[in-house]
Amino acid sequence: MKIIRGGRIVAGRTWIEGKALLVDEASERLVALGDETAFPRDAEVVDGGGHWIVPGFIDVHVHGACGVDTMDGNSSSLEAIAEGLAAHGVTAFCPTTMTMDEGHIVAALDGVRSVLSRRGRGARVLGAHLEGPYISRRRLGAQDGTFLRRPDPDFVAAHGDVLRLVTFAPEEDEGGRFLAALRDEGIVASLGHSVATYEQAMEAFRQGARSVTHLFNGMEPFHHRAPGLVGAALDGDVFCELIADGVHSHRALFRLVLKLKGLDRLVLVSDAMRGACLGEGEWDLGGQRVHVDGSAATLRDGTLAGSVLTLDRALRNVAAETGLPLWEAVRLVSTNAAALLGERDRGRIEPGCRADLVFLDEAWQVKKTFVGGKEVFDSHARRDCPRL
Ligand SMILES: [Zn+2]
Repeated sequence: MKIIRGGRIVAGRTWIEGKALLVDEASERLVALGDETAFPRDAEVVDGGGHWIVPGFIDVHVHGACGVDTMDGNSSSLEAIAEGLAAHGVTAFCPTTMTMDEGHIVAALDGVRSVLSRRGRGARVLGAHLEGPYISRRRLGAQDGTFLRRPDPDFVAAHGDVLRLVTFAPEEDEGGRFLAALRDEGIVASLGHSVATYEQAMEAFRQGARSVTHLFNGMEPFHHRAPGLVGAALDGDVFCELIADGVHSHRALFRLVLKLKGLDRLVLVSDAMRGACLGEGEWDLGGQRVHVDGSAATLRDGTLAGSVLTLDRALRNVAAETGLPLWEAVRLVSTNAAALLGERDRGRIEPGCRADLVFLDEAWQVKKTFVGGKEVFDSHARRDCPRL
């Protein structure tokens, strides 16, 4: 058993001081939130150092970090991503694939399968986010159009054990068979890289699509006579991913989207690529050459190609624009992503939930990260990227 005390614990929609958390490392769960005097005397004590103690972050859309990528198709790359993300408060994530030939995608999914729920030195892998190849040629973003395919229900059935979330263009889905297959497999359907009309998108929501992938990016811009996928995303009762780096969308939209979606449906994602946390350089993303200048990742023609955002920075960016207090803002990187994925025991600090925790200082910088009660990052012990 482990006692975590001496911090301000963000629980529910408020925070608590003067109480402690009791962690059972065997089950990796929080057992109690209460008076330390009632906890076992032989438990190891971790001092919260007066920091904020918040639920671990969950990134449902991240390609890579620290020089490695999901499409490398091996467990060591995924483990390095997991370790790198933990330095930014992430305790669970969905490694995200790119549109490449089927062999590459299957190899990437095999890699994800091999590390599913594995206890490692970083964030836990929850399953893959398949981004493409079932998308629109007209909204490729940095996805390679050579490998586009019609939405294929059989592929979903063959890989249902490892897929958690699939981004696809609903207008490419003949008869809604692909969406039905996702629903049958219990995989989250997310609309994106799409030119769907408002009506097509709303129909997909009625048929079970629950999310929109990186709102504003990879879709038609909002038009008042043709609201499109953006209009449907803002109007429907669905989750919306947002890449809150100030590059993928204007910062004013952080406020606007929050007003329209509220505190329960907005999910901040990084969409980070392998250059994240490594500064300036040239990298590959899904077989394409990408230049990173420290704040943006772009193809040669200027198309945005993933991001170099981290979720802790996204949290700070959104709070700076919206004025949200930490105990509300943190929902956008933890609670909501857990709700989107149906992870009932993550995204909250509550007895019975997993002991996935982050210590943040006054400036909301990550000081420590715990996954299943085990410390996986300490800002005093290492820099953010294990490769540096
Ligand atoms: Zn992406």
